[in-house]
Amino acid sequence: MSFKITVASGKGGTGKTTVATNLYWSLVKNFDNDTLLVDCDVEEPDDLLFFKNAILRSEVKVTQAVPEINTSKCTYCRKCVEYCEYNAITVIPPVQYASIAPDLCHSCGACLYACQDDALIEKDHEIGLMSGYDVGFGKGLLEGRLKIGSAAQTPVIRRVKKEALDAASVILFDAPPGTSCSVVTSVLDADFVIMVTEPTPFGLHDLKIAVELIREMDLPFGVVINKAGLGDRAVYDYLEDEGIDILEEIPFNEEYARKFSEGMILSRIDKNYAIHYQKIIRKILEFKQQ
Ligand code: SF4
Ligand code: SF4
Repeated sequence: MSFKITVASGKGGTGKTTVATNLYWSLVKNFDNDTLLVDCDVEEPDDLLFFKNAILRSEVKVTQAVPEINTSKCTYCRKCVEYCEYNAITVIPPVQYASIAPDLCHSCGACLYACQDDALIEKDHEIGLMSGYDVGFGKGLLEGRLKIGSAAQTPVIRRVKKEALDAASVILFDAPPGTSCSVVTSVLDADFVIMVTEPTPFGLHDLKIAVELIREMDLPFGVVINKAGLGDRAVYDYLEDEGIDILEEIPFNEEYARKFSEGMILSRIDKNYAIHYQKIIRKILEFKQQ
């Protein structure tokens, strides 16, 4: 069974991807070469930018079954419209118009249940792409990418997670930022969650919401404070009051920030920076052995 770690954050811009990619490097070099990185931030997957020599090894279209209305059978009764929670169906009886917007459909099947006239049939609709890359070390990168215009983040993440299942001893998921359904899907089943935050009022606000979610899901977690030294002490006070473990503090450094923006995995070249990730791994291993 794989050991599954998910890197999450309550908001964008905390350095979640930086932490995920550096942690991947450190896991491969210091713990287990059989580690796979999975980019679940399907709306804006950017882990790949950190692997300049990545080689594409597989590409699979991700599809979803979306109902279509057969207008020769449709009686324009609008039952399907009433059942659709996602406003994906438009039926206008006076002009005998009926259609389903694939990009709004969540494939819940409610309309199929509602229709008594056998006027709906399911057809595969492309919602995204799943790509596997060799990155020169470890098991590589598996990336989910949402098709432009599609709102089906969760099915793309589910498909990518299914592919990753037991594909390596250690699987490191990079979740989307925030606390939406797509985050829940990414975090679900994690053996350990790393919450990345920054010591600012915005960081604290979103961290609190994310902690509530992770606690609700009853998952073990710890916090990495990125850009330490910026902002104030409110995040530290909150974590202490709540009894939440700080896995590591990674100080803010302008030179580091510049290198990250160039897509550099700093742990590969800077021993002092790499130590932060070795400490995170040590703490997760202590948890794993409990
Ligand atoms: S499958 Fe669900 S979301 Fe899609 S059109 Fe039917 S009721 Fe709406
Ligand atoms: S429930 Fe069936 S028959 Fe009624 S409007 Fe929808 S597709 Fe047409």
